[in-house]
Formats: sequence, C-alpha cells, structure tokens
Amino acid sequence: MKWQNMRQSSNVEDARNSSSSGGFPGGMMGSGGGGGGLISLILSMLLSGRGGKGLILLLLVVMFLGGGLSSLGGMFDQGGSSVPPTEQSSGSNQDGQTKSQDDIVQEQGGDKATDPEMAFLSAVLASTEDMWAAKFKEHGMEYRNPTLHVYSGQVNTSGCGFSTAAAGPFYCPADEKVYIDLSFYRELKEKYKAPGDFAMAYVLAHEVGHHVQKLVGTMDQYVKLKSQLNEKEGNQLNVRLEVQADYYAGAWAKYAEQQGVLEDGDVEEAIQAAIAVGDDTLQKAAYGTVVPDSFTHGSAKQRTSWFNRGYQYGDFEHGDSFNSEIDLPQ
Ligand SMILES: [Zn+2]
Repeated sequence: MKWQNMRQSSNVEDARNSSSSGGFPGGMMGSGGGGGGLISLILSMLLSGRGGKGLILLLLVVMFLGGGLSSLGGMFDQGGSSVPPTEQSSGSNQDGQTKSQDDIVQEQGGDKATDPEMAFLSAVLASTEDMWAAKFKEHGMEYRNPTLHVYSGQVNTSGCGFSTAAAGPFYCPADEKVYIDLSFYRELKEKYKAPGDFAMAYVLAHEVGHHVQKLVGTMDQYVKLKSQLNEKEGNQLNVRLEVQADYYAGAWAKYAEQQGVLEDGDVEEAIQAAIAVGDDTLQKAAYGTVVPDSFTHGSAKQRTSWFNRGYQYGDFEHGDSFNSEIDLPQ
C-alpha cells in the first residue's frame, strides 16, 4: 500500500509505554492462545463473584479472531487446549513478492520498527475516516471517528474491562476505541501466515467496521436479538456481525483503490488474512477438526466472500449480512 503520503489520523493514542494495566490480579495472562487473557479474566470474575456489570460489558467486546470469548465452550470441550501455533517451516516461501514497502517491520528493522507501523495504521485510519464520513453523509448521517488505542502487553479499556495482547485486536463499543497491540502484526505474518501491510490494514478496517455497526445501530440490534437466541443461533448471528465487518473492510479496500493507494497484491494480502483467521482454518489448526455450529466469525470462505463483496460494491445496501444468504454464490 502506498501509504507514505497519505494523511495521518490524529485519533490515535500511543499507550505502548504507559502502564495502563492497573495490576489485574489474574497474573500469567500475557501468553497463550487468542483470547486467553479475556477468558482468564472472565473465569477470575466468575470465581470471585465479581461478574456483574464488568462481565456484561466485556461480552460486548468484538474481536477480530474467533479464538477469544467464543472459544470458551470449545476450550472446555477440548480439554483446555488453545489455538496452537501453526508453524510449518516448509522450505517454499510462497510470498516471494518483491514489494519493498510490503513489510514495514522488515524494511525498517531495529528498534524503530514500531514507529512506521504507527504511521501506517494512522494513515489507514485516516483513510477509513474520510471514506465513512462521506458514506454517512450520502445517507444523511454523521460519522463519528473512532479512536485507535495502540498498547503493549495489556490494557484497561474504558468500558470493556481488561485485556491482553493475546486476545488480538478488538473494538470496544462502550468507548468507541479499537485496541491493537502491534505484536499482532508479527503474529499475522508468522503464526497466521498472512504477511504484508495490507493484511494489517484489513484488520484495522474490520475493527472500524464494527464501529460503523455501532453508529448505524446494528450493534444494538445484535445485542438485543442475541439475548433471545440459543447458543447455536447466537453463534450464527455472531457470524453475520463479523462477515459484515469484513464486508465493510472490503468496502474500504475499494475506496483505497479509488484513491490510488493500492498496490498489486494488496487485496490478496487481505484475503490471505481473512482465510487465515477463518473459524474453520483456526479450528482445524487447533483441534484437527471443524465444528461449523460453533463458528462465531465465519469460515474462511464466508469471510473472504463478504470481503470480496464489499470490495465489489462498497455500499451499505449490499452489506446486509443479517438479511441475506450468509454463504454467497462464488
Ligand atoms: Zn470482528
């Protein structure tokens, strides 16, 4: 992505050097599979009888990966195993692309590696701000910018409780912030085999998609509806929420293309990331088997097809995943 000359958003909080942890008494929450921190938090709250409001708010956190809260059931069923790393050091490196700015981390190297990442995410965020402000205006609505909160290790949100980097990027509707630990950048590349700057751009655009869902009221409807459903139906509703965020990410990719900032291979990088974080991909890697009823974020095929649909149409109308077939014709 040609992001170097793009406007950078000022709605970014760099909290990588601040200790916002507040010393949550869970301990040992920095490692483990996706969502380990949040799960530990919930368990601690339940065990200490401190569920209440904090727990309810926490459940509204919308995460990028399926390995978070949603895997609670799966984790118990599977004897506590979490998503293991899917390392396979096959000698063939299939991303033999030669885009020099493709990998910001490698290009910069050394201690300053994180600053270009901040600049990059600020540029992507600014681009989503411009796009959604225009789209909302077209529909007689006003867009309110979300805040990107970049932290390191662990974070206390204002309204969605405590989280750690293990949970992956997430959006907190209560404070309208997207929370990202930059280590996820490397995780995408190394653990999920989805390298490239646009893979991370997709992640951010997906989280901004959840913010759009909050602003247009979809999130509220989702919460109301979900409370009336059983687990299986609730999971399906969750998938609809997630693939819509993927649709919105695709819509942004279309906008970025129209702005002339896409490079060859960018869209493929996003799609590779969507495949990598598909529920079936993650489950297969973790358990060797796939249980579609437990999907909460959508299969690789669902996620990529909704991203592609957003990339194709880029409007609100075609993105109603709540009232259309979830499995799109290919
Ligand atoms: Zn999501």
